[in-house]
Amino acid sequence: MLFDELNLIEPILKALQTEGYTQPTPIQEQSIPTILQSKDLLGCAQTGTGKTAAFAIPMLQLLHNPHANAKGPKTPIRALVLTPTRELAIQIEESFKAYGRNLPLRHLVIFGGVGQKAQTDALHRGVDILVATPGRLLDLMTQGFVNLRDIEIFVLDEADRMLDMGFIHDVKKVIAKLPTKRQTLFFSATMPTEIQKLANTILTNPTKVEV
Ligand code: AMP
Repeated sequence: MLFDELNLIEPILKALQTEGYTQPTPIQEQSIPTILQSKDLLGCAQTGTGKTAAFAIPMLQLLHNPHANAKGPKTPIRALVLTPTRELAIQIEESFKAYGRNLPLRHLVIFGGVGQKAQTDALHRGVDILVATPGRLLDLMTQGFVNLRDIEIFVLDEADRMLDMGFIHDVKKVIAKLPTKRQTLFFSATMPTEIQKLANTILTNPTKVEV
């Protein structure tokens, strides 16, 4: 299969050409059509499988399409990706930048261990897609710099590592602030009981993808 067969819009296909991608990986082939239909997804996949593009590409397309979802009054944050580490967060934001290079969507990455001024300045200017680690996100939410009430698409990346690293409580606090009407994409390399339970509570009739 080729990316051309996945009903992607021209600006995204062009960006993929620039990246040198021609064929979707198995997780991309399975996930992209389902996500484009605004369905929830439960993906069992490790890093290195092309997981990031599997959610980033269709998210860019959905957020670009004004008919896909309702828009809030001002310039709300429309999509949130939660990931456990700063390195992953940076990589994910770079993916949105690469695949979204021909689209006007604004993305921002926030993580702890650095000053918050640059992050809060960028939030003030407006962000469509926010990539974050849980601790810094909660911190900025508590201070009133981030409001999640208009999130249309929520991605929980590496859920099992969130548990291993002791972030699951923070993750649940963030989820509690999301609107219940949203699309949720849940990724985990393994499915321990606690992660399975979390998936069951936050996903609605998900399509399951395993690679
Ligand atoms: P990930 O699993 O998301 O960390 O991606 C692993 C690596 O594969 C990244 O360096 C991507 O740039 C690359 N990649 C993802 N999808 C494709 C594709 N369809 N064709 C070629 N390279 C890809």
